[in-house]
Amino acid sequence: PPKEFPYDYLFKVLVIGDASVGKSSMLLRFTDDSFDEHIQSTIGVDFKVKHIDMDGRRVKLTIWDTAGQERFRTLTSSYYRGAHGVVLVYDVTQTDSFENLEQWLKEVQLYSPNNGESVIKLLVGNKIDLDRKVERERADAWARSHGMLFLEASAKTKEGIRQVFMEVVQKILDNP
Ligand code: GDP
Repeated sequence: PPKEFPYDYLFKVLVIGDASVGKSSMLLRFTDDSFDEHIQSTIGVDFKVKHIDMDGRRVKLTIWDTAGQERFRTLTSSYYRGAHGVVLVYDVTQTDSFENLEQWLKEVQLYSPNNGESVIKLLVGNKIDLDRKVERERADAWARSHGMLFLEASAKTKEGIRQVFMEVVQKILDNP
């Protein structure tokens, strides 16, 4: 059997946010460089693994997707356990998905040790290839007021996707 890649760090990152914002699509774009207009939201992905080299530091990154469970509001403490980073995703064409971020952040704080303060959080506005409803400045201000990083991306065109996950890994490595 093929030998596992050796690594220096093992990180767990979660992708959360409302249904249909493109969480699975972002994950598949980053790990498989694929995109599907007709992705089956009910199936989803549970998690994917990606090996990253950050200036000679070998990182095994496990990225977890809600696999549609957010529809039933059943994400629980076990999902959040041991997470080093959380990517909060909204859809720039769906204002609701932006306004619900407060709820998602509350859940992170509820289920993470130390009120989520030691978890790296990154806000992503996905689907920037479409006509936006949520202004960049509004999201940027929200992210800043909650001490998190902010990026915009498109799983469809690839724009910003790699940056999202590389940024999270970099911040986790930098985290004291
Ligand atoms: P999830 O429920 O958050 O995992 O969202 P999905 O990944 O299942 O995506 C929901 C729908 O949005 C699917 O039809 C995707 O093809 C589509 N989608 C995801 N990301 C993008 C994007 O960046 N641009 C566009 N135009 N569509 C996207």
